[in-house]
Amino acid sequence: MYPDNHAKSRDLYQRAMHSLPGGNTRTTVFMKPFPIYAASGAGCRVRDLDGNEYIDCINNFTSLIHGHSHPVLIEAATRQLALGSAFGMPTESEVDLAELLAARLPSVDQVRFANSGTEAVMMALKAARAYTGRPKIAKCEGAYHGSYDYAEVSLDPTPAAWGGNAPVSVAYAKGTPENVLADVVTIPFNDIEAAVSLIREHGPELACVLVDPMPNRAGLVPADKAYLEALRQVTREVGALLIFDEVITFRLGYHGAQGLWGISPDLTTLGKIIGGGFPVGAIAGGKEFMAVFDPSSGKPALPHGGTFSANPVTMRAGLAAMELLDAAAFARLDTIGQAVRDGIDAAFRNTGVPGGTVGLGSLLKIHFTDRKIRDYRTAYLNEVETKRQTAFNAGLLNHGVFAANYGLLALSTPMTDADVETIVKAAAAALEQVAA
Ligand code: PLP
Repeated sequence: MYPDNHAKSRDLYQRAMHSLPGGNTRTTVFMKPFPIYAASGAGCRVRDLDGNEYIDCINNFTSLIHGHSHPVLIEAATRQLALGSAFGMPTESEVDLAELLAARLPSVDQVRFANSGTEAVMMALKAARAYTGRPKIAKCEGAYHGSYDYAEVSLDPTPAAWGGNAPVSVAYAKGTPENVLADVVTIPFNDIEAAVSLIREHGPELACVLVDPMPNRAGLVPADKAYLEALRQVTREVGALLIFDEVITFRLGYHGAQGLWGISPDLTTLGKIIGGGFPVGAIAGGKEFMAVFDPSSGKPALPHGGTFSANPVTMRAGLAAMELLDAAAFARLDTIGQAVRDGIDAAFRNTGVPGGTVGLGSLLKIHFTDRKIRDYRTAYLNEVETKRQTAFNAGLLNHGVFAANYGLLALSTPMTDADVETIVKAAAAALEQVAA
């Protein structure tokens, strides 16, 4: 059981602490007393350095929708590797992937590739500023959009910093400049009246409203359709762009979250699954807005480069991953997602532990509260709830299931019905431990 059967990870952590702060490169993968280091993955299973095997429900934070080492993706990536891994020239691969994305997303005519979701959001916010000539952006309280100063404002405010219906914009990281905070309007998620009123108040200075239709860190609750419709309407009214961050939600359906909700944003940010397991990000949208990137008539309003942007290995693997994601694959992911949600909800009822699941399609999150989760504030765990969540996560790991430390599970296409059963049984066993 972790941490006792992870001697090699423990040793590597000791070594890694000398050369890497925290012994690794990502805050999100750090865990106490030490992170478990991965050695390999195949299908929906991941193996650690000590040879322990888990069903992987992190899937590199939702990006591996086909699990690990899918043969079709290996073939697509290695074929390109043999032809060259990167060029100081564009390649046909980026045209192919851009065409596929534009065909799937009705709001999208054109795409600009980047190397991460963070960079995609950063460029989308800059594009909105370049297009409108306005300085401010609005984002939802508690929503994660990567590690760009503007995007991470009010990411994890404590109740003392919440303010009323007009949330105070607070820094997530030390060193965030004051003028960044002044230029970010934090709006409540799923609260039409408060959000619309704030957007109207800052309207003339507002370049865009950035929203994730099912924000993971703010609770993974789907946005009310009426909320997104209100954002669509009020952004048109004040002349600001509406940006959907679909870095995660693009895995919800063939046409993304915007297809499910039937709402057309001006710009969309993408990442994770569209890279077939390789680093990626993309800014996508209507031609009118994407023109800020266009260098064909001289210096564009928003110059954007990136030595590895639209990397052909990523593009080829991404294209193969997206082609595997047909309607049948989405239907299967929806089915297994619902089965896991239903199974875990039943386990909550059986054990009497307060809480249950939220989410859609292949994504779910486990909440340890009977409050109805609507937004960041209702999803905010108190001390007792946090303890239950920590105990549950440890239980899940000890029963052979790897999930993100904040209760997120992302499923993948290689998962069989037997794997789904194993996940539900592991969750039920972990909940029994929490109840004991
Ligand atoms: N936007 C959302 C909604 C995300 O969930 C993430 C990452 O988890 C990002 C942006 C940033 O993406 P990346 O980690 O590729 O920089």
